[in-house]
Amino acid sequence: MAPGEGSDIGETPLPGERATMDGFVWTPRAIPSLRGPAGDMWCVRDAFSELMAWRPGSPEWLRFIEAPVPGDMDRLCDHLGLHWCDPDRQPEIFGTYLDRPGIAVYAFHGERLSHVVYQPHLRHLRPLPPQYAPFQAELFRIIADLRQAPGACLRCHVGV
Ligand SMILES: [Zn+2]
Repeated sequence: MAPGEGSDIGETPLPGERATMDGFVWTPRAIPSLRGPAGDMWCVRDAFSELMAWRPGSPEWLRFIEAPVPGDMDRLCDHLGLHWCDPDRQPEIFGTYLDRPGIAVYAFHGERLSHVVYQPHLRHLRPLPPQYAPFQAELFRIIADLRQAPGACLRCHVGV
């Protein structure tokens, strides 16, 4: 993923129009032998499905693949009408995302891994799961759904 580009509007669904996975085609890939914390090869599916309120086992959830190539992330965001920025290089854009739900994208350069985490409220980012503690993480991208209000947030005592 090229950082610092920010998102285009893409084929953003109209207000009130429900985004779906219809028409989205993943880039075929051979599953690489990645090292690092096990069990998170489905983090893209899990984070995007939580953001879009697609339940496990639902048709949209089932359309995800394991460990998609990084280039698919931008296309997926465009397809779903999501916006993104680099929070460090584009703080003014990130500032417009703060009271929305979204996804945080982390890179672990030493391990050549990335990990995405659903964030109900981008103002109050949830920490990475503890299994990532040994690794140096760079938060290099924030994805936001500007159509939604924040989800349940422990820090705000909203919806919890
Ligand atoms: Zn909050």
